[in-house]
Amino acid sequence: VISGVRLFMNQPAQPAHNQYSGSLFIVSAPSGAGKSSLVKALLDSIEGISLSISSTTRTARPGEEDGVHYHFISEHQFEALREDDGFLEWAHVHGNYYGTSRHWVESEMAADRDVLLEIDWQGAEQVVRKVPNVVSIFILPPSLEELERRLRGRGTDSEAVILKRMGAAQLEIEQARRFDYVILNDNFEQALLELKSIVIASRCRFNQQMARHGDQLKNIGL
Ligand code: GDP
Ligand code: ADP
Ligand code: 5GP
Repeated sequence: VISGVRLFMNQPAQPAHNQYSGSLFIVSAPSGAGKSSLVKALLDSIEGISLSISSTTRTARPGEEDGVHYHFISEHQFEALREDDGFLEWAHVHGNYYGTSRHWVESEMAADRDVLLEIDWQGAEQVVRKVPNVVSIFILPPSLEELERRLRGRGTDSEAVILKRMGAAQLEIEQARRFDYVILNDNFEQALLELKSIVIASRCRFNQQMARHGDQLKNIGL
């Protein structure tokens, strides 16, 4: 530890352009809580966030497009990517594999862009361990009955899939306590306002403001 500290002290201060000046956001939720709808509305209403497109072994739902909603791949392809260290995180969720492209996230972060990951809590845990200053957000439904109503109302999943997801909901909901922020998605517009507020507040953190308005802030003595 001591030599580690000494080594660190001997390093020249890291130039500001080597530090990520964007924000990495994670949004998680039990299936059907409204995560994808809220994220879509957020991206439609705010500039400058890149959404990660996960790879999954799940089959596409009607209306889902390869390369837009997910990269739909086989288990064999998934394993090959995993062996090749292609995933920043991956998890087995409701019977399918899901993973985030490590290369894509790294290149977005290198370009100082804000990045949003829509991933489950197991993946969130992995990312929080690997990347500093992640902003994690958990979306909750107002009740289990409403969660089931939304899953059915969405009309995209078979009865078996709905039952599997409802079976996992309680355990998923309990993970909310590990997240920085919690949004109760009862009234959609209120939930969207809260999600937007978190993103905007994160952009007002000192380092982010220095990166965005550095010249101006230097002019006033910072
Ligand atoms: P949803 O529950 O309706 O959003 O259904 P999806 O099939 O889109 O997502 C299934 C689960 O996989 C959700 O918990 C997602 O958050 C999670 N998920 C999606 N993409 C990723 C990813 O890249 N990594 C991880 N770890 N989880 C993901
Ligand atoms: P997730 O991505 O968390 O699985 P979705 O975004 O697909 O959830 O939402 C599930 C269903 O619930 C969708 O049909 C969506 O239109 C609906 N929904 C989302 N938020 C609300 C809300 N606040 N009130 C009522 N219905 C909602
Ligand atoms: P769905 O099958 O309904 O699209 O997604 C089911 C769950 O998988 C959701 O909770 C979703 O957030 C999660 N999920 C989607 N992509 C990923 C991913 O790349 N990694 C992880 N860990 N979970 C994901």
